[in-house]
Amino acid sequence: MLLIYCGLQVMNTSEGQQDIVFDCPHCGKSLVIDRRGAGMQIRCPECNGTVTVPQPDYDEVSAEDLRLHELEDALQDCKRELSELTEELNYVSVRRAHLEKLRARSLKCFERIDRDLSAMEQAIQRIRVALLDAGFSPAGGDSDSASDTESDTE
Ligand SMILES: [Zn+2]
Repeated sequence: MLLIYCGLQVMNTSEGQQDIVFDCPHCGKSLVIDRRGAGMQIRCPECNGTVTVPQPDYDEVSAEDLRLHELEDALQDCKRELSELTEELNYVSVRRAHLEKLRARSLKCFERIDRDLSAMEQAIQRIRVALLDAGFSPAGGDSDSASDTESDTE
């Protein structure tokens, strides 16, 4: 059952979020009207009596506002947390770059030590060859024991 009044539909079937639900004071019929109809006078589609549309349910509205405030607070918390995490990430990035620089420097250092060590080994090798050329036998327990046995047999 529908009643057109001042361009607004009064329905007794479905109800939307923006609708005002109220009972006719004359016949008790449950009526639904668009929120824009608040305060207007309409005729009840059931009993044809004059009815003033009540203001929308403000309790509901304030509950929604409260929920909205809660969500806004939660959003603020999230934003704060996000900025903290961003700061931490920046710090970690800087620290990581620093450590990578240190690592690169250490690698260069190790490479230099390797080069120095192999140069030393080459030098030792050259000294050994020079000593052998000059008639020095390489020092060692084996050669000593060999000379001992030679002297024993003589
Ligand atoms: Zn009525």
